[in-house]
Amino acid sequence: MRSVITGGAGFVGSHLVEHLLAAGDEVVVLDDLSTGSLQNLSHLLGDPQLRIVEGTILDGELVRATLTGADRVFHLAAAVGVRLIIDEPLKSLRTNIHGTERVLEAAHEVGARVLLVSTSEVYGKNTADALHEDSDRILGSALKSRWTYAAAKGIDEAFAHAYFTQLGLEVAIVRLFNTVGPRQSGRYGMVVPNLVGQALRGDELTVFGDGQQTRCFSYVRDVVPALVAVAEDDRALGRAFNLGGAEEISIGALAERVIAATGSSSGIRLVPYEEAYAGEGFEDMRRRVPDNTAAGELVGFVPRTPLDEMIRAIAADIRSRSGIDDGAADAEASLVAAGTE
Ligand code: UDP
Repeated sequence: MRSVITGGAGFVGSHLVEHLLAAGDEVVVLDDLSTGSLQNLSHLLGDPQLRIVEGTILDGELVRATLTGADRVFHLAAAVGVRLIIDEPLKSLRTNIHGTERVLEAAHEVGARVLLVSTSEVYGKNTADALHEDSDRILGSALKSRWTYAAAKGIDEAFAHAYFTQLGLEVAIVRLFNTVGPRQSGRYGMVVPNLVGQALRGDELTVFGDGQQTRCFSYVRDVVPALVAVAEDDRALGRAFNLGGAEEISIGALAERVIAATGSSSGIRLVPYEEAYAGEGFEDMRRRVPDNTAAGELVGFVPRTPLDEMIRAIAADIRSRSGIDDGAADAEASLVAAGTE
């Protein structure tokens, strides 16, 4: 089986590469290395089953050439992260809309199956107790970058669905909800690596707004196998599936959990949104809770990893990559002492 992974050098992509190589696939990564990095794949670079193509999904010729001979495509390449979307709205729109269209077009031409990786952002401000796949999308102004991103990913899904219904492309969609884990960068705004990095450095943890907004964090190693199982299931074609975490937690409470799990002596600082995302008239989601029933029924998806375990794994990863060590050794000792490892 030959699999192409667009965005394979990114955070989720690199875990998917690892998983598919272990399953015996021949894997081709297409990545422009803008937010992704070869460092995410450094432990796999010697594998003869792995080939890396550096380039953008906006290059239609390159996409077609890369997909030729592929059985399936996992399309993860996208501009992601609230910070990046706000700083580079044009690039984000182009990559997320035109890039996806090129991938779908090429997959149709070469006869490859597609798994489109989408996002819970498509639900926008819907604060339902459990968002299911046909829940309404509630978006703010199209002049605010965040909603533009949500709109672009919604268009991606609509494109995929139209390729399915009109042209018979084999395509399924997954919507990831705040996936976290080792190798995720805090640079583009993601809260968990940001807070864990701050805790390890002894900096104040920056909690935006009043800290009462909630999320359900899911672990990349729970999500990746489910994502592959959805891609391999014929019943998934033409449909979308949520893949999210089990525990709803406020960001304020998350910061406390990060401090406890890392043994940090950092404090917490509430940062007004105007300061965190200057100049945007920023709107946040107050709440985002997935209903994972559909993926549970289809492929047995259950988000198993507890939040504290995710935090510890991310902390260990940040330490190993950044050389944050002194506090780390203490934190490790206190975790062992507390019987948590
Ligand atoms: N957030 C925070 N501190 C940070 C980064 C993010 O309090 O250093 C908040 C952010 O405003 C949001 C939540 O954490 O309410 C999750 O942010 P993230 O960007 O990780 O994901 P998303 O907003 O897309 O769910």
